[in-house]
Amino acid sequence: MGKYREKECKFCKVTHRKKGPYCSQSCANRDRPEYSANVANAMRKVAIEYNRTPEAIAQQKLLPLNINSDDFAIAIPDIKTIDDFADYTDGFDKAEKW
Ligand SMILES: [Zn+2]
Repeated sequence: MGKYREKECKFCKVTHRKKGPYCSQSCANRDRPEYSANVANAMRKVAIEYNRTPEAIAQQKLLPLNINSDDFAIAIPDIKTIDDFADYTDGFDKAEKW
């Protein structure tokens, strides 16, 4: 025999011999509608407030495109003399050779 008399779970009606009125912790949590409603509301409020920040809005716009700020960085060619253009003019003659 268990320590406690057999009883029905207050939430799901399963018979059990546990200390409290519930068969499990999850039933105990689910049988508190005002508590979970308050928590859900509080979480929603925080999420809504966060979604209004520029950071969150930028994040939401970037995520579907799967890009980050590094993608906006472009290499700047290090060109000091006309010969430095050689790398960028493959297959073309320079004006001096015309
Ligand atoms: Zn239960």
